[in-house]
Amino acid sequence: MPSNKTAVVTGASRGIGKAIALMLSAQGVNVVLNYRNGAAAVEEVVKEIQQNGGSAIAVQGDVSSFQDAERLMKTAVDQFGSVDLLINNAGITKDTLLLRMSEEDFDTVIDVNLKGAFNCIKHVSTIMLKQRSGKIINISSVIGVVGNIGQSNYAAAKAGIIGFTKSCAKELASRGITVNAIAPGFIQTDMTDGLHEKTKEAILSNIPLKKLGRPEDVAHMVCFLSSEGANYITGQVFHVDGGMVM
Ligand code: NAD
Repeated sequence: MPSNKTAVVTGASRGIGKAIALMLSAQGVNVVLNYRNGAAAVEEVVKEIQQNGGSAIAVQGDVSSFQDAERLMKTAVDQFGSVDLLINNAGITKDTLLLRMSEEDFDTVIDVNLKGAFNCIKHVSTIMLKQRSGKIINISSVIGVVGNIGQSNYAAAKAGIIGFTKSCAKELASRGITVNAIAPGFIQTDMTDGLHEKTKEAILSNIPLKKLGRPEDVAHMVCFLSSEGANYITGQVFHVDGGMVM
């Protein structure tokens, strides 16, 4: 990974985003860690990066806000001079059956998981277009590919991310910008810790590799897609899911 690159990672206070921030930083990338809540947690990650000799700052902001996304990218450029990598990782769930799902449950999940990616890409694209380079990685989900009971809002957002990724990839390719998506399966984080034991057992029985993934499993794919080795790859969806989708 070439050093002097700068990455913006959304939702980097914990889980997959934290693992991505730590791994990119270990490869010499300056990291801007976005978070909405949990300032103490994100400051711990920043401290860990700095203690290991890396450069990082934390920027509070809600990705579902167009203005917050604009401020996030501006802060990154003011601090480090460029944004070379954008990892759209921030995401939430509000699971319930369609019959019980409120309009707000649907809108909130779409606003954070799908519109949040639009907001960030919209503002980073002007920076990357000027640079004529950049790599954008959107975190989708296996649920966006196969659907799930009780997750129609989340599935819609994550499937939307896949179509959005392909369209952005086509629009931005001629300017040297790649856009790819990663569709993780079930990764052990706070998001999945809340699942009922029975649900976890049912999930495991559908994973050929018979275990949940680790945040680092996703971070490794992000690092590859951020590297020069991925220069000729765009518009793709990478499944990091223990074989769930094949
Ligand atoms: P997590 O809940 O542990 O972390 C999510 C992060 O996003 C947190 O830092 C949270 O503060 C942040 N966030 C939430 N809403 C935000 C907003 N509006 N603005 C800015 N930040 C916000 O979740 P995770 O498991 O680490 O998931 C990370 C991403 O991976 C999400 O997009 C999720 O949908 C996706 N994913 C997770 C799994 C899994 O099994 N854990 C599987 C597939 C996809």
